[in-house]
Amino acid sequence: MENTGVKAIIFDLDNTLIDTSGAGQVALQKVGELLKSTLNVDDATIETICNGFKQNLYNENFNSASGKTIDEVRTLHWEKSLRETVPRCPVESLGSDCYKLWKSSRLQLLTMSPEVQALLQDLRTKYKLLLLTNGETQTQREKVQVSNCDDFFDEVVVGGEQLEQKPSVSIFRLCFEILGVEAQDCVMVGDSLETDIRGGLKAQVKATVWVKRAGESESNVIKPHYTVSSVLELPRVLAQVR
Ligand SMILES: [Mg+2]
Repeated sequence: MENTGVKAIIFDLDNTLIDTSGAGQVALQKVGELLKSTLNVDDATIETICNGFKQNLYNENFNSASGKTIDEVRTLHWEKSLRETVPRCPVESLGSDCYKLWKSSRLQLLTMSPEVQALLQDLRTKYKLLLLTNGETQTQREKVQVSNCDDFFDEVVVGGEQLEQKPSVSIFRLCFEILGVEAQDCVMVGDSLETDIRGGLKAQVKATVWVKRAGESESNVIKPHYTVSSVLELPRVLAQVR
């Protein structure tokens, strides 16, 4: 007889289990304070510098074959924004200081809450758990480390280390293989309709659970099986999955 039970849960990391966006905002505020004490400029200029960095980060297309590390590339994001906004400021040292402060402030806040940790511990008594995170290897591995993910998951798969990332079916198949399960045994949980939910649907998992953030719009095209406002609602959803 076909087994219809769920055997494994695949989780996204950023903005699903940890508040990456919130941590990024706080980190930018810290850099803003540093800039305020360093440069003789008004708040609007500081905001322009920080927004410039954010935009550069958003447009980032990291290629490890370029010979630059992700730290070097992101330091350059700050230098570029500083140079464009305040033409005569000492961008090299300041850009590096901004990047180090942004990175350390952000990482410090990228921990899973006690509630999320308890949820994962409980789920792990019943299911295999796999963390599937897109992104550049070093950046994602640092997050995995500071949030102690290795203690909570059976396996961790980082998109940047694979040929294709979410929503490609190949990376989901890799996860099924690592876990020793079929697509139909799995539930995919994540905040991104484009990568987590679209990928889970294409890979034909049993159910997709969209962690919908405040202000996010639903899609007419990508339809998750379940929508929650917090990952903490997962036990209620899992009780409904058939
Ligand atoms: Mg995410």
